[in-house]
Formats: sequence, C-alpha cells, structure tokens
Amino acid sequence: MQEIRLASRPSGWPTADNFALVELPTPAPGPGQVLVRNQFMSVDPYMRGRMNDAESYVAPFEVGKALDGAAVGEVVASNAENVPVGATVTHGLGWRDFAVLDARHVRVVDPVAAPTLSAYLGVLGMTGLTAYVGLLDIAQFREGDVVFVSGAAGAVGSVVGQIAKLRGAKRVIGSAGSAEKVRHLVDDLGFDAAFNYKDAAVRHQLRDTAPDGIDVYFDNVGGDHLEAAIKSLNKYGRVALCGAISQYNETSAPAAPRNLALAIGKELNLRGFIVGNHRDRMPDFVAEVGAWLRAGKIVAPETVVEGLANAPEAFLGLMRGENTGKMVIKVAG
Ligand code: NDP
Repeated sequence: MQEIRLASRPSGWPTADNFALVELPTPAPGPGQVLVRNQFMSVDPYMRGRMNDAESYVAPFEVGKALDGAAVGEVVASNAENVPVGATVTHGLGWRDFAVLDARHVRVVDPVAAPTLSAYLGVLGMTGLTAYVGLLDIAQFREGDVVFVSGAAGAVGSVVGQIAKLRGAKRVIGSAGSAEKVRHLVDDLGFDAAFNYKDAAVRHQLRDTAPDGIDVYFDNVGGDHLEAAIKSLNKYGRVALCGAISQYNETSAPAAPRNLALAIGKELNLRGFIVGNHRDRMPDFVAEVGAWLRAGKIVAPETVVEGLANAPEAFLGLMRGENTGKMVIKVAG
C-alpha cells in the first residue's frame, strides 16, 4: 500500500517537499476491523491549518505520520459482521490507497443513491452539510433574503447558493476568482449575479450587484470580503462565519475587516460554526439535499484529480483556486 505523510511543516504556502509518498506492506484487519480500498479521497482547506503545530478544534497532523481526511471506498476484507466485504463506506483515513479501521469508525453508504461515489465527500458529505447548516441554522436564512456567498464556485459555496435559491431567496450573489467561475455561477448554478473579486475592490462590486444591500453573508474567505459584506449588510443582517481561506497561507494577520464596529449599530448577528458539531442535522440534510440532487434541482460539479501521488498537488491547487466545485482525488477505479 501507499500513504502520503507530512514530511515537514510548511511556513506560508506549502510545497511538494512538505509531503512524502511512502510504500508499505498492506496490513490485515484485526478482530472487529475492516480493510478498505479507497476509491476517492478529499482534500479540504482545513487541512492547511492542521499542518501547523497550533492548537485548534482539531489536532495537528504529526510530522513523519500519514495525513488523514475523508475518503470513500470498498471493504475488501472484513472481521466485522455488520460491515461485510463489498460494502461501500466513508471514513476518515484518506491520503492512502488502503486503510484498516475499526468497523465502528466507518459509515456504510448506498453506492447507487449518489450520482458518483465522490458525492459522499462533497454535496452529500461534509461540505454539503456545512452549506446546509451554515445557511439554515447559523445564518437563520429566511425566504425573501438577499444572500451573498464568497468562495461561491467551491464545494461549500456552490451548494449554499443553490439551497438559498431553492428555499426562496430574493436574490443570490456570489464571488469567485475567475471569469469562467463567474459565468458558471450564473449560467449553470442559477445565481442571480456574480463577480470576480480579482477585477476590482469587493466593496464596489458588491455595492453594484446588491444596490439594496444584503441580508445574509456566508463567509468562506474573510478579510476584504467580510469587510465589504459588513458594509452592505442591512439592519439585523446575519453572517455565517464559515472560513477565512484568504488568510490560511499568510504569515501575518490581515488588516480587514476594519469596520467590525458597524455590526453594533446594525445589530448584526455574526456567528461562527464548526460543521462537526452539527452532525445531528445529517438526516434532514440528506433527505432534503439528496432529493434535490436526484431530481436534478441541484448540480454538483467536481474537479477530479487522478492518482494518490497527485494528492499534494491537488491540495495546493485547491488553495490556488484550480477547482470548480468539490476537489477530490480518484485513488482507484
Ligand atoms: P473550496 O472548494 O471553496 O476551495 C477553496 C477555494 O477558495 C478555491 O477554489 C478558491 O476559489 C478560493 N480561494 C483561495 N484563496 C482565496 C482568496 N485569497 N480569496 C478568495 N478566495 C480564495 O473549499 P471548501 O468549499 O471545502 O471550503 C470553503 C471554505 O469553507 C473554506 O474557508 C473552509 O475552510 C471552510 N469550511 C468550514 C467548515 C466549518 O465547519 N466551519 C467546514 C468546511 C469548510 P477562487 O478561484 O474563487 O479563488
């Protein structure tokens, strides 16, 4: 088997040298364990934070040890009655082609209920649940709201915008980092308006696309985007603080948002959240978003990179914006 280890901790932007691909004998499952052949693994922005030796809501990766993260695959050997050979499972040991786990640490999923198995890493997995919980529970979305979402062409953002439309938003606006992504948001995902944040100041582009202001801001980016959103938010506006990817590879703290005090007069509700603490919403999420997906009301583009050895480069590509929708690695066919 092969696994990818953290060779050293990055400072600023990671490089290929921070990763090492290692060959090992494939382990056999012990009592109560299963051997899974991974078919897809996920790369996610939060993994950047885990490469630092810093205290956070999830433990840092260890230098010299394999990275981990979400994966989906097929059970090829089993010592657990409830998870037989042939079952399709999701679990947390990505970054390797084979994984041995206790059966209680895998979730059996239906391989035919999703358009592709990789959907369990994206629209029907962690990033889809993040969009659902963040918009509906944290930002308290209401029908008729004007919604702005940053990172809109990515895994979380693309689902946020589509759920908002399906739940009756008055207007949904997205920002992304290329003209092609802006086109995709409007033409393929049904956003009402979108702009490229690299073209001009976010605050000007947001003011032009939302002249009557916004009611909800779903923040994937932080910095200038959050500052611009605070300016454009209407009274009693609500913000789901989901991520701040503009800062993950920076070595010094950002200047923006400089206008946080506006939140007081506008009586804004800005709320952070960690999706792992909202797993109780999984059944509602799977029922509602799964039905939309099967009915073709939600589309879930993915960017698929072939081969475990290319996972580090795919992770860096995610940080550079080379993905549209969820970035996944096809480990095996
Ligand atoms: P995406 O699929 O959105 O991929 C990351 C995207 O970020 C890139 O495609 C790129 O798109 C964009 N990006 C990179 N650098 C910048 C920048 N400087 N300014 C603006 N955009 C940038 O990833 P996810 O959907 O998985 O994650 C989105 C956000 O949600 C992240 O901040 C992540 O940390 C957060 N998150 C939080 C969770 C929680 O529990 N709170 C759970 C899951 C994710 P572009 O081309 O548009 O620049």
